Amino acid sequence: MGARSVGARVALPLLLFAQLTASWAQSPASVAPAAPATQLPTLGSGGEMNSSAERRLGERIAREIYRDPDYIDDPLLVDYVQGIWQPLLRAARARGDLSEELDQRFAWEVMLGRDRSINAFALPGGYLGLHLGLVGAVSSRDELASVLAHELSHVTQRHISRIMTKQSQQAPWLLGAMILGALAASKSPDAANAVLVGSQAVAAQTQLNFSRDMEREADRVGYGILVQAGFDPQGFVSMFDKLGQSARLNDSGAFPYLRSHPLTTERLADMQSRQSPGARAPDVAQQASSHAMLSARARVLSNSSVDALRGWLAQVPKSVGDQSPLSAQAAALYGGALAASKLRDPVIATSYAQHLGRLPITEPAALRLVALLHAELSLAHGDAGKALAVLAAVAPSRPDPVGGPSQVDRPWLMLSAQAWVAAGQPALATERLQEWVVLHPRDAQAWSLLSTAYAAQGNTLRSVRANAEAKVAVLDYDAALDRFNAAQALLRESGARASGADHIEASIIDTRRREVQSLLKEQALER
Ligand SMILES: [Zn+2]
Repeated sequence: MGARSVGARVALPLLLFAQLTASWAQSPASVAPAAPATQLPTLGSGGEMNSSAERRLGERIAREIYRDPDYIDDPLLVDYVQGIWQPLLRAARARGDLSEELDQRFAWEVMLGRDRSINAFALPGGYLGLHLGLVGAVSSRDELASVLAHELSHVTQRHISRIMTKQSQQAPWLLGAMILGALAASKSPDAANAVLVGSQAVAAQTQLNFSRDMEREADRVGYGILVQAGFDPQGFVSMFDKLGQSARLNDSGAFPYLRSHPLTTERLADMQSRQSPGARAPDVAQQASSHAMLSARARVLSNSSVDALRGWLAQVPKSVGDQSPLSAQAAALYGGALAASKLRDPVIATSYAQHLGRLPITEPAALRLVALLHAELSLAHGDAGKALAVLAAVAPSRPDPVGGPSQVDRPWLMLSAQAWVAAGQPALATERLQEWVVLHPRDAQAWSLLSTAYAAQGNTLRSVRANAEAKVAVLDYDAALDRFNAAQALLRESGARASGADHIEASIIDTRRREVQSLLKEQALER
């Protein structure tokens, strides 16, 4: 169960890379006949790829990552990462590191990958990749924040665009393929895959590396952003220590982040010198339990092989007891319950979750995670009614961190929507999800759930349209156009009994279909 082979996990980038190497066997002129020089990314005045061209290149890469079976939109982990990422973005804006132009034009999206390797990387156009291996390895929010702040700075300082400019004689599709090839190489630490990927990818990767000056700048700017956002600057130092220890203990190549970010003693000394003696006291204890549980979640989701899941279960008795720190007990029980559920053992899963519920946890974020785990397990075990009862006791929204109106909690909504559909109450799901997608039109998972909920209500037309929007959200315009066409065909069939509501629906579908068609035309021109 769930044991996807490493080969399957990297299938997509490898496929692209195979095309890339095949193309390189021919002359560059023969591989991109449809790309006249005028359509190559244009250079900004500072010798950088301009921001629109960089965003388009980023979307080209993001589109492939969304399709990779390794891409994961786990609402709880996404929510956790957003709770770190958004304050960093606000701090970068406040410091003037993030220009208004770049802020508007780039995606500023963190994409999670299931991969176990410890890695985070900045991509063109404001997309960032973050492997669950890294989320599972850090011991505090501050450590994760330090890595994200560093990567964010590579983007705001236009390091990516400068590297891309060096490569700008290449067609955009080739640049995209090079980056995907380098990613594939970075996520396959085992020998079998290294052979498959070959040395070409490594060559491509080295061409795409940042210079030492860029690394120093990303350290300096990232550190400033981290502190401004209110994170403990000690996170930077402890993250470096951790990576250094890992490097000494494990040289198997499981730490691509370290390979692209060599730890020079100079960098370490630099970080340590930035630590003022009066730096604010770390309030690690404040969020220790919620961090520990989500870190455990990342570890379970990044390795769902039967052996790994059994390993989790074996660990629980050793980690639970009065002598262990509360956060360690919470993490062991949380991970154990999730692992048991994945092994289809509802009895053990429920007993661990109940044990977790009896721990003297007081941190509100951690208590919310415990409740959501109960709901998730009930739903997985086919008891939607119980899931709904648990979810009804959890606040559906949270206060806005910058004082705006309170925001609907996405993990709560995604779980609730599934439970409403499973419990035969799809109308409750469509109502809440409709409100959500108006505010978050790029949320593919919300559109997919909405599509399922409409189907359960027997509203095929709206179900197909929501499915089309889910495809738009992951930048798959071909599939989206297919679905908009299917929706139009449905409308034509029902023409005889068209109602007023159908007319509104028809006009929305027609407008969206045209928009997607023009996006596809733009894409075809770029090739
Ligand atoms: Zn870096």
